[in-house]
This record gives sequence, structure tokens and C-alpha cells, in this order.
Amino acid sequence: MAKTAKHKRPRVVKSVKALRDAMSDWRKRKLPIALVPTMGALHAGHISLVDLAKKSAKKVVVSIFVNPTQFGPNEDFSRYPRTLEADLDKLTQAGADLVFMPDAKEMYPEGFSTMLTPSGPAAVGLDDKFRPGHFSGVATVVAKLFTSVMPDIAIFGDKDYQQLQVIKTMARDLHLPVKVIGAPVIREKDGLALSSRNVYLSAADRAAAPILHKTLKQSAKAIKQGEAADAVLARGREQIAAAGFKIDYLELRDAATLAPAPEDKKSKKRLLVAAKIGNTRLIDNIAV
Ligand code: AMP
Repeated sequence: MAKTAKHKRPRVVKSVKALRDAMSDWRKRKLPIALVPTMGALHAGHISLVDLAKKSAKKVVVSIFVNPTQFGPNEDFSRYPRTLEADLDKLTQAGADLVFMPDAKEMYPEGFSTMLTPSGPAAVGLDDKFRPGHFSGVATVVAKLFTSVMPDIAIFGDKDYQQLQVIKTMARDLHLPVKVIGAPVIREKDGLALSSRNVYLSAADRAAAPILHKTLKQSAKAIKQGEAADAVLARGREQIAAAGFKIDYLELRDAATLAPAPEDKKSKKRLLVAAKIGNTRLIDNIAV
């Protein structure tokens, strides 16, 4: 049987002015508002954020914007998947209230001259090292989304764990009155983290890809059991390389600052990985 829509198709607005007009009544009624920023090509990971937003606020705004300033010159901006109609169907099913879909000119008009330069968790030698300028683009666009939507809460996936810490820090440092919430990574049955970029994987690369999560799980377990992190990480890197990946990093870090993890037993730690297979760069992480 065809799925009948429980919800109305959300309204789509493209300018900041139309966005604010569409939200003004909610604002007058002081309805709590949640924002879920995305680059579209939506999958079940994104929808889990919308579900959490629905539970956490009265109104849910989803932004869809493939942000040019967070892509490097040799990255996949122009071929990034764009699936607008399917995205709107999924957001209708999930019950999103409003979709903000600006174009690049709306976000970066002629004469745009103000980029944020985050440090702290944006300068720790993880994705910042392999994607120079990436977090400047991310922090800038998210700050603009926050000041455009003015949500009470904003929900991001743990999937992009460094990004989440950068955004939490940015919102705190700029006194933006938005509570930034992280949500668990949604995975395929074989452990591969859902990602809009998984569509790039060839069948052979797709078959190899679950090694990332498998290695994270095995390594976290070994570290928790008291094995020296250096040895565990060296073994993990070998395992990932043997599956055909070119590894950017596999690192154990402090869960909040992302600085190299101290040797103590108490502090919360995170194991993070980034690696390339074919032309596709995948990232993943796990709590330790
Ligand atoms: P993106 O469209 O890739 O920029 O992602 C938009 C948001 O969805 C970010 O906060 C991501 O961390 C989050 N996200 C992406 N993949 C997943 C996943 N597999 N599980 C949970 N959240 C995710």
C-alpha cells in the first residue's frame, strides 16, 4: 500500500526575508524552534536529526544548502549529490515545518567579506589538516544559519564529530543563544555510517567500507581493556590500509577539545578516522 502522507509538504523559502516572514508568527507565539542544517541528499541519518528535533521543539526548520565555502578546490562541490524532490518527500514524511533553501548568492552576495576563523577543536590536526579552510566555511555558514533562523536548538550528527565540537565552540564564543545538540551516528546493517557520499562508492569499495567502523569498534574495545593506544592505533591503521584505503588519520583524542588524548583512565575520549577509497573520502568516529 502506498504510504499516505501524515504531514503537509513543508513550505520552502529561499531568502532570509521570506524565512523570517514565515517564522514571525511562531516567534510571536514564543514556540520553541529547532534547526537541522543539511546539505541535502537526505538519508536516514538526516531524518533521525529531524525526528529528534520534532521531539525537542514545537517547530522544525531544515536547511538545505551545499555550502561552497567549505569545499576545497579539488573537492566534490560540483558533483555533490543533489536530490531535491526526494529530499522534500522525506521531510514531508518526517513532519518538518519549513525548509530554508537559499542559493549561494543569498548566503554570499557580491561584496561578502566576513569569514570566521575557528581555532580550538578546528586546529588539532584532524580534518582541519586534510581540508584546509573547511571549518572556516562550516563555522561561517552555520553562524549565518543561526542568525537567519534564530532557533532555540540546533541538531547536528556525531557523524561529523569534529564539526560538532567546532560549532559548539563557535556558538559559545559568539554568544549565539542556540543550544547545540549532537545526535548518534546512524549506520547501515554492516556498520558503515550513512553518508550522502556513499553513493560515490563502487561495489568493491562499498564492500570494503565497513572496515572503518569495524576497526573503530575493535580499537575502542582494546583501549578500554587497557592495551596501549599507540599499538592499537598502529594495528588499526594497518588493517584499514590492507582493505584498500589510503588513511588520513586514525587518532584517539579528548572527546571535547579533540587534543591528543591524555593517558588517564577517566577523561572521555573519542576515536576518529578519515580515509580515502577510490575517489571517496569517508569519516567515522566512536566513543571510547
Ligand atoms: P550533511 O548533509 O552531510 O552536511 O549532514 C547534515 C547533518 O547530518 C550533519 O549534522 C551530519 O553530522 C548529520 N549526519 C550525516 N550523516 C549522519 C549519520 N549517518 N548519522 C547521524 N547524523 C548524520
